[in-house]
Amino acid sequence: MRSVWVFHLDTGACNGCEIELFDALTPYYDAERFGVKLVGSPRHAHAVLATGPLTRQSYHAAKEVIKAMPPKPRIIIAIGTCACSGGIFYNGYPIHRRPEDGRKGSEYPRRGGIDELVRDLRDEGEPVGPVMYIPGCPPRPEEILYGIALLLGLVEKRVRPEEHEAAGLEVGRPPIDERLRLTLRERLRHVIGHFDADRVLEDFMGLVSRAKDEEELHRLVEDYRSRKDERLGACMELIETEYLRWKRGGGERS
Ligand code: SF4
Repeated sequence: MRSVWVFHLDTGACNGCEIELFDALTPYYDAERFGVKLVGSPRHAHAVLATGPLTRQSYHAAKEVIKAMPPKPRIIIAIGTCACSGGIFYNGYPIHRRPEDGRKGSEYPRRGGIDELVRDLRDEGEPVGPVMYIPGCPPRPEEILYGIALLLGLVEKRVRPEEHEAAGLEVGRPPIDERLRLTLRERLRHVIGHFDADRVLEDFMGLVSRAKDEEELHRLVEDYRSRKDERLGACMELIETEYLRWKRGGGERS
């Protein structure tokens, strides 16, 4: 692909991402030199530049926009942490909730992010091309341009996993699934507040990466409980139970 025509799709952003995005499109950064052209209708677009966490109000309009695009290549470029994963609005009241996630409680969160819409469209048999993520709150114009240049094949990835491994370095992988981590964080925040929730969760992730199996994890959790105050210990036990339930196949929505 030598050039890309883009349509901007706002799914409820706070305007921070828009400011940076429009900056990237102005003559100062001059995205047009890479063949990036902003168009006024999704019917002419190869890609949408999606910003925002996908609110309830924007969900149906966003769906119509993507359906109006030509079926190929239908690239989705998620700009900003909100569009990538819900960001600070994750599990917030205005975020779109999938009907099957309609059960109440922090275990069934309103996830947010353009992925939810992409999944629905694919379930309906609509073709949707690759999704590219440009995280940041908001990402700088340089980061947006770098993401688009990667898409167009104008630059190489700066770090390739093969090269990283060839150099004898380990590719970092989070000890637990990201969705589960966010779900556990929400649950903990309801119980002990933001500060302690983050602390307990970080400690728990440390224990998960140290433990070889469930038995060892349980031993480490017991040890943690004996060292910390009762409140933190009880929270650690709570997330251990949730984590094991998820790991044993219940999944995050069981
Ligand atoms: S990622 Fe940050 S700047 Fe962008 S819409 Fe979300 S909160 Fe606003």
